[in-house]
Amino acid sequence: MLRANGYDVTIESDLCQLFSVNSSRLSEIISGTILACYPRAVRSLSNWRGLEAVRTADIRNQTEKEILSLFDLAPDQEVVNTEKEQIWREIEALPTTESDAWFPVIDKTRCTECGKCYDFCLFGVYGITNKRTTVIHPQNCKNNCPACARVCPARAIVFPKYDKSPINGGSKDDEPFNSQEMDTMYRERLRYKLQQRRAGVPLTREEIL
Ligand code: SF4
Ligand code: SF4
Repeated sequence: MLRANGYDVTIESDLCQLFSVNSSRLSEIISGTILACYPRAVRSLSNWRGLEAVRTADIRNQTEKEILSLFDLAPDQEVVNTEKEQIWREIEALPTTESDAWFPVIDKTRCTECGKCYDFCLFGVYGITNKRTTVIHPQNCKNNCPACARVCPARAIVFPKYDKSPINGGSKDDEPFNSQEMDTMYRERLRYKLQQRRAGVPLTREEIL
């Protein structure tokens, strides 16, 4: 419908991936309306790269009507089958990568700069620059592990591809903060660190320090 009404629509296979490599296309992309997952995730990703997302819509939760109203359109227009087929062809032709971009991003509207995430992560994902904690090596993050998001007391760490809120940037509290779980994670972290040390494997964070 957007295309039929003259809007320039680009389909991206992985917006997180573009942010992780700081693609030169980002500033152009975020100057438009981004239809993606949670706006808090998109805003945090944009701020991380020094950009400001102008307008975002949440395609997980907003209705078709709400999203189309951003473009002054109403969902009463038929999308003809040939257009739908063309969109599927575009989606099928999107480049695929071996693994999903999986990394944390900090919601700076919540972060208190306590440094716990920097302390916790053994893989050098976080750094501290001018007393501000930031994600410096997203590619070092271990796939599907949102551990540091659980130790953040401010619930400021977002993994956009995680399935539960607030870690995925949503507003619900599917996974409330659990101090007991935090103690367990710190113990596991210590065990892992000792194992790696015994095996003579240097941990990335120590290398950075
Ligand atoms: S643990 Fe949370 S509040 Fe503390 S520095 Fe990291 S993101 Fe910010
Ligand atoms: S999820 Fe694990 S590896 Fe990734 S940044 Fe957090 S602590 Fe580090």
